[in-house]
Amino acid sequence: MNGPMIECEGLVYIYKSSQLEVVALQGLDLRVETGEMVAIAGRSGSGKTTFMNILAGLDAPNAGKAVVADQDLTRMTESQRDRYRQETVGYLLQRSQANLVTHLSARENVELATLTGPPVRDDRAKHLLDRLGLGGRMNERPENLDGGEKIRLALAVALANGPRVLLADEPTAELDTTTAHGVLTDLYRLLDDLDTTAVFVTHDPELERFAGRVIQIRDGKTSTETRWTGGRESMVADELVIMDRAGRIQLPRAYVEKLGLKERVRLHLEGDRISILPPEPTAKDDRNG
Ligand code: ADP
Ligand code: MG
Repeated sequence: MNGPMIECEGLVYIYKSSQLEVVALQGLDLRVETGEMVAIAGRSGSGKTTFMNILAGLDAPNAGKAVVADQDLTRMTESQRDRYRQETVGYLLQRSQANLVTHLSARENVELATLTGPPVRDDRAKHLLDRLGLGGRMNERPENLDGGEKIRLALAVALANGPRVLLADEPTAELDTTTAHGVLTDLYRLLDDLDTTAVFVTHDPELERFAGRVIQIRDGKTSTETRWTGGRESMVADELVIMDRAGRIQLPRAYVEKLGLKERVRLHLEGDRISILPPEPTAKDDRNG
């Protein structure tokens, strides 16, 4: 398939209880191309997990557009949603080690996950475990695996059905940076070979670099986007800001503070670029400078 694997526009999600409503996503936009690996970053409470739950087909959005692998997540019957969860996406939940079945071996854990989906090649479990560096640990139970190995196993489980999209919510949160690097390096290669699109949530700026793009979520909306240009080695960050259909953009807070921007800014169009400047200096400022 060419074109976007994930297309979200104006996504809204509201948690409702008898007491209160929390608008966790308030008009989130995101487009992910097929085969891309995208990182989602943002403070705790900004809506990252909520967004992943929607992409995973666990929660249906209240408003907006959400299409994944040509399937419209806003209008799905329960059985379509079940199928979507089994066949289209693999989801590694936050604190996913809890997902592993403790009395089964690593290999059995992966095989079990394939039973709920369409028939797969017999050796798929072995292949995935090999590629994720667990070839020699296939008969171990989760309790005998270290932190990095458990995440590797949880990733193999999430990939067991050959999903088009892998979603992982802070997969490396409990690992030290070196271990996390090892896991993501192997995962990155595997996803590339499987041509699987991936969206992962991370807190660790070091790990954002594994992704081609880093999307910052702020207050339930995508705010800025960083792309690494000049290859993975030189890492020059090019800051992109998302513009919605109405032409609204959100400036990075650091830029706003640096220039002391408030309420109104001046836009200056020069040829192919637009400058954003503080309002006209007052006569007094002019005299001083
Ligand atoms: P993140 O993953 O970025 O930390 P979440 O998506 O978990 O953020 O949460 C986004 C917002 O929604 C927060 O304000 C959080 O308190 C609220 N929230 C999350 N889950 C629930 C829930 N089950 N009921 C009510 N509010 C929730
Ligand atoms: Mg979260």
